[in-house]
Amino acid sequence: MPSLHTLSLLTVRDALARGEVTASEAAAACFTRIRETDGSLGAILPWIDEESVLERAKALDDAGPDPSKPLWGVPVAVKDCICVKDYPTTAGSRILENFVPFYDAFVVERLKQAGAVIIAKTNLDEFAMGSSTEHSAFKTTRNPWDLSRVPGGSSGGSAACVTAFQAYGALGTDTGGSIRQPAGLCGCVGIKPTYGRVSRYGVVAYGSSLDQVGALARDVPDAALLLQVIAGHDPREATCAAVPVDDYLAAARDGTLKGVRIGVPKEFWDGNSAEVDAACRTALAQAEKLGAVLVDVSLPHTRHGVAAYYILSPAEASTNLARFDGVRYGLRDKEAHELLDMYVKSRSKGFGEEVQRRILLGTFVLSAGYYDAYYKKAAQVRRLILEDYTRAFERCDLLAAPAAPTTAWPLGQNKDDPVAVYRQAARTLSLNLAGLPGMTIPAGLGKESGLPVGLQLFAPAFGEAALLGAGAALFRELPPLGTPGGVA
Ligand code: GLN
Repeated sequence: MPSLHTLSLLTVRDALARGEVTASEAAAACFTRIRETDGSLGAILPWIDEESVLERAKALDDAGPDPSKPLWGVPVAVKDCICVKDYPTTAGSRILENFVPFYDAFVVERLKQAGAVIIAKTNLDEFAMGSSTEHSAFKTTRNPWDLSRVPGGSSGGSAACVTAFQAYGALGTDTGGSIRQPAGLCGCVGIKPTYGRVSRYGVVAYGSSLDQVGALARDVPDAALLLQVIAGHDPREATCAAVPVDDYLAAARDGTLKGVRIGVPKEFWDGNSAEVDAACRTALAQAEKLGAVLVDVSLPHTRHGVAAYYILSPAEASTNLARFDGVRYGLRDKEAHELLDMYVKSRSKGFGEEVQRRILLGTFVLSAGYYDAYYKKAAQVRRLILEDYTRAFERCDLLAAPAAPTTAWPLGQNKDDPVAVYRQAARTLSLNLAGLPGMTIPAGLGKESGLPVGLQLFAPAFGEAALLGAGAALFRELPPLGTPGGVA
């Protein structure tokens, strides 16, 4: 019998439903694992105390398994930019260090209604700005395969936590790749749904026209079930679509690659490291063996994706972050004597360097005289990128691309080169500009580094079921990665 913490989410869910495992035992197994590994991994922000979680688990056990609740007793972790009532939600920032929300995010409400036990908040780059989880004000998260390397970001805490068996699944957010890229670098599954598929009510905003909440897990059906629970209409969130939710779990279980046309966009297959290219091509060859048809396609405007994204997302961030003024939320500088001084001092102390850089960038591109040259142009490029995808999806059902150009890099490597970090999101961010869904599955281990390589699949809007079906069919037939060496 494998240890409890290593079971898949669906396996533990079924064991809980049958009464073979109690909610208290499942939560305790995860806490033991967190205690054993997190000192070196740093995936968890210690805002949720074990005692209150075990109380909730015990209350579930006292009432007994409830088959109407699809996640009854399952321990799940939540990225710390998503509000969980009565526990701090910091978004990895000093400015929110003392912020304790008095309500749950919509997705957390849904998890709780489904019977899940929220056991931890996971680390992230401050305000989800970054690709390495080195930009948290509180700690650095490391890669479970090699503790000297980054886990990717900004949902690096969620990806590392799930990969290291600290929880059975986790929520993340994805503005420019923050679920799919860390899933790729850590070797787990991560799905970012269509813009509007999942409510952002109670999620700390980064780029409001780009942000989506999604799921990370160790297997595709596990991620499908999490998405199933959190997807759906929320009248409190104006961008949340009233589109019916498909049966994602059934799609993941029954999915096939037979006759599925997978487009291979050449722009995303140029410029990757040799080992990333090889692992992803091997996975595609496997997809072909399973009946998929590969189609060469081009997304010509995605080469401007990085430039457009790093104009539009800081612009939105600079306005979203204006609310952190030392008055309404979080940190307030005590030494300031007049209002402007208080704003300046609170924001200078509260925001880290990368966040300040984004605010400056965003304020600049929105300022009079520059708006047309930068913001407006980037918005036009965004439209062209969406048209590229629309054209590609006329000829194929899904697209496939590496999740990142390289495997995980050493901590601190790009410390003085923000643009190098920005480029790490080049394989993922165009999809957010187009508002479409994407998912990363582990393709294999890189031949040179021995580190995970992720393959992304993209689908047309609201094509999550197709994505999960094909992704599950392929992932089942790829060689398993094995146990991550850094936390074995
Ligand atoms: N790396 C990208 C950025 O820094 C994406 C982050 C995200 O998806 N939240 O903005």
